[in-house]
Amino acid sequence: MIEVEEVDWDTYAKSFSIFNVKKIFFGKHSKALSSEHWAALYHHEKFHCDNNHLEWRILCFMFAPWMLKSLCYRQEFDSDIYSAKMGYGKQLIEFLSNKPTISSWRYPSASERIQRLTVYIEQYT
Ligand SMILES: [Zn+2]
Repeated sequence: MIEVEEVDWDTYAKSFSIFNVKKIFFGKHSKALSSEHWAALYHHEKFHCDNNHLEWRILCFMFAPWMLKSLCYRQEFDSDIYSAKMGYGKQLIEFLSNKPTISSWRYPSASERIQRLTVYIEQYT
């Protein structure tokens, strides 16, 4: 079971999941989200938790660190597609379009994420 918690962090949403401790944190910026944009982020984070993405990242870091970046990218794309499958693809695109690009080695660019979501939506919805 996933716990949802509101926190005072400088973020929209983050998840933490290790074995059966599964939490989704909504930060202070999430208060400005519509319920549909909130749901889009919830389903993205839920997919990270349900599929043990942190555990896979830890194993990858230990045994195949050269693959970590591509694993993280794939997990982000897969989580985005899950949110789209749940009906929130357009909301996720809107969210990503309005946010400054998160710059980190483990996050694909917003434009790359939007492009993949657009392809999915055009093909399957
Ligand atoms: Zn993510």
